[in-house]
Amino acid sequence: MKVGFIGLGIMGYHMACNLSKSGYQVYVYDIMPEAVKRTEKSGCIGCASIKEVVGQCDDIITMLPNGPHVKSVVLGDGGIAEFGNRGTFIIDMSSIAPEVSREIAERLNQKGIHMMDAPVSGGEPKAADGTLAIMAGGSREDFERASKYFDILGASAILVGNVGSGNTCKLTNQMIVAVNIAALSEGLQLAARAGADVEKVYEAIKGGLAGSAVMNAKAPMMLEGNYKPGFKIDLHIKDLTNAMETGYATHTPMPLTAQIMQMFQVLKADGCGQEDHGALIKYYQKLTGTDVAQ
Ligand code: NAD
Repeated sequence: MKVGFIGLGIMGYHMACNLSKSGYQVYVYDIMPEAVKRTEKSGCIGCASIKEVVGQCDDIITMLPNGPHVKSVVLGDGGIAEFGNRGTFIIDMSSIAPEVSREIAERLNQKGIHMMDAPVSGGEPKAADGTLAIMAGGSREDFERASKYFDILGASAILVGNVGSGNTCKLTNQMIVAVNIAALSEGLQLAARAGADVEKVYEAIKGGLAGSAVMNAKAPMMLEGNYKPGFKIDLHIKDLTNAMETGYATHTPMPLTAQIMQMFQVLKADGCGQEDHGALIKYYQKLTGTDVAQ
């Protein structure tokens, strides 16, 4: 049982390791040699090129930052399409623009190579636990072929629609997460400035209507002032850029997303792009001088 895995960053490392722990021979590649070495230590088989991965495996999972990276790995010089054949099947689990997923899949189709998009939600803890929420786009047949991997990597996998639909779903997810983090930041700032014990406020509201998975993940980090990623602001800017472009193309008004994009841009300009997206609260801290961290 062989499977290829390309892109061994915060998420891909854990996902490749989980496939290996479940008995697969996982052939791994990343442009950063140290990422390959780290993954080899957990039983995966390091490869020096994409060609080597394709030479060993029909099924290849990619977990890369954005569309241009996926295009380069799949369609670029020395990419999967150059060495793949009709048996090759690509499951792209990166979060990229739906339009780019469709474009890549169409170009692969001409070579008889199948691809599906299957981005995830849940962050590093769920990648490590194998409990990601997987949002898939592709044919029913391809979804069934990918399900044996989804069973290991995720707690749920839903086929949303045709290729690109997984990423449309993921953009929706990222907009909702961004708005939640902003609301949490604004609320905790008010609590702190009005003299309340912010930790007690969090304890009091987390079980009520305002409580959420976002609150449970991000409020403790905000209270500690811990912004180690996790999910980087740079990646959230990438997702909101893809969401805004999809919004322009479909004439969808997205005033909240646009507002939060500007808040993230302020933080990026201030050198926080590599921090966790929970650092959005620093936008308020910069305006007020109030730090909710205790
Ligand atoms: P990351 O930056 O930590 O990892 C990306 C990896 O891809 C890096 O190791 C990089 O060296 C590698 N890479 C880049 N270009 C490459 C190329 N041409 N060939 C081979 N390897 C290449 O990012 P991440 O946090 O693991 O996120 C990966 C994807 O998953 C992104 O699309 C992100 O939006 C999405 N995602 C991340 C999280 C999270 O919490 N980190 C959660 C859900 C979804």
